[in-house]
Amino acid sequence: MSDPRPSVEDQRELRRTFGAFATGVTVVTVGGRSPHAMTANAFTSVSLDPPLVLICVRRDAVMHDRLDGPFGVSVLGAGQEEVARRFADRWRPLGAAQFDGVDHTPGELTGAPLIDGALAHFECELWKTCDGGDHTIFVARLLGMAPLADGDPLLFYRGRFRRLGATKEVTA
Ligand SMILES: Cc1cc2nc3c(=O)[nH]c(=O)nc-3n(C[C@H](O)[C@H](O)[C@H](O)COP(=O)(O)OP(=O)(O)OC[C@H]3O[C@@H](n4cnc5c(N)ncnc54)[C@H](O)[C@@H]3O)c2cc1C
Repeated sequence: MSDPRPSVEDQRELRRTFGAFATGVTVVTVGGRSPHAMTANAFTSVSLDPPLVLICVRRDAVMHDRLDGPFGVSVLGAGQEEVARRFADRWRPLGAAQFDGVDHTPGELTGAPLIDGALAHFECELWKTCDGGDHTIFVARLLGMAPLADGDPLLFYRGRFRRLGATKEVTA
């Protein structure tokens, strides 16, 4: 009798099954002469002592080669779906122009643009990288943080943006 379970080699099914794990949504940013931002949900707290977080970035993403120093992470609130979509759009302009219309403030410790209205900001510096297959795992040490607001988070679940409560979607 054949096994009805999909194979882990089936990337469509794998993505769908990974999608059962609900996450928050962040924007990872680097500053400098050519600032850059990328929407990421593969963000996790790792350690309290030392204070570490990790983020997984696709090897062929522009952001992949920009995370070799300090960077910022903004944890998005429920009303920031458009910001998440902007920094996941691969046709957005490069450099400072990608931030047009998105309010942000340079981090005091890193200069990385931090998204205004986010629920929390973290400022980090690269600590270690690990091979993560078609992604790289960037482990970073926290330099500073700001727990900013108490509002609801923006969530990502089964390939869609959601809000807390029932199974309400942000957009139909
Ligand atoms: C909810 C959500 C969560 C996500 N989580 C993650 C995650 O954790 N990790 C992850 O790796 N990805 C994640 N993604 C996907 C990621 O946000 C997008 O792939 C994003 O576009 C990657 O940004 P990037 O700038 O690093 O790379 P790219 O999208 O590769 O590059 C975009 C930039 O490069 C420019 N560009 C692209 N191609 C060219 C070209 N040929 N010539 C000139 N310029 C070009 C574009 O104009 C744009 O400025 C997530 C997406 C969503 C919606």
